[in-house]
Amino acid sequence: MESCKYNRVILKLSGEALAGENGFGIDFNVAKRIAQEVKQLVDLGVEVGAVVGGGNIWRGRSGEGMDRTTADYMGMLATCINALALQDSLESLGVKTRVQTAIEMKEIAEPFIRRRAMRHLEKGRVVIFAAGTGNPYFSTDTTAALRAAEIEADVILLAKKVDGVYDKDPHKFDDAKKFDTLTHLEVLEKGLQVMDSTATSLCMDNNIPILVFGLDEPGNILRAIKGEKIGTLVSS
Ligand code: UDP
Repeated sequence: MESCKYNRVILKLSGEALAGENGFGIDFNVAKRIAQEVKQLVDLGVEVGAVVGGGNIWRGRSGEGMDRTTADYMGMLATCINALALQDSLESLGVKTRVQTAIEMKEIAEPFIRRRAMRHLEKGRVVIFAAGTGNPYFSTDTTAALRAAEIEADVILLAKKVDGVYDKDPHKFDDAKKFDTLTHLEVLEKGLQVMDSTATSLCMDNNIPILVFGLDEPGNILRAIKGEKIGTLVSS
């Protein structure tokens, strides 16, 4: 394998990342561009598990006045729509993939089976983990942390709209300062917007580094994998 810092990764894509400029739904040009970047990793021999969010379609907390559990199940279904879109974009480039869902929908995708997921990864298939953890009150960030622990990933690549972690919102404050490195505990103590606290704690307890970087800059996923200094690295 060409010099890569990480051999097995979880790539976390928020639903927003797939929405592109529209902020809603799926922009297939954006999905294609992400797929091209993922293909570069696969071509290098990196094993890629992808966790997709659903916020471009539905988030549990959008369901004001609704039963929270029902709203969360709607969010989990939204992640499945995104997973199939990503699968389609990857396969159109000749990348072999499997979607595994945390809620069984066997006509559409495989159920999540850890050993099977590992085998797919070893064979060079991208495994897209859909339907979150399968439980309400969780997020797809927590799913990324959980799947990373389960498949023994070297890192979570957390692709965001912003190019790292800042002490305050860089869209609102000109003097916002970007962190190059942080510990999980600092993220929790400072209340920084990296992942939610459940996901961050899971990463801290299991020693999983998180590399937060901007997805808008083309080529960033590859840079991240080669260990170039981009974004913010959160580790213990
Ligand atoms: N969700 C859930 N359990 C999970 C993962 C996700 O209930 O394990 C629901 C939750 O309602 C969440 C929605 O699915 O708001 C979409 O996921 P998320 O908000 O994490 O997506 P992202 O913000 O990454 O697009």
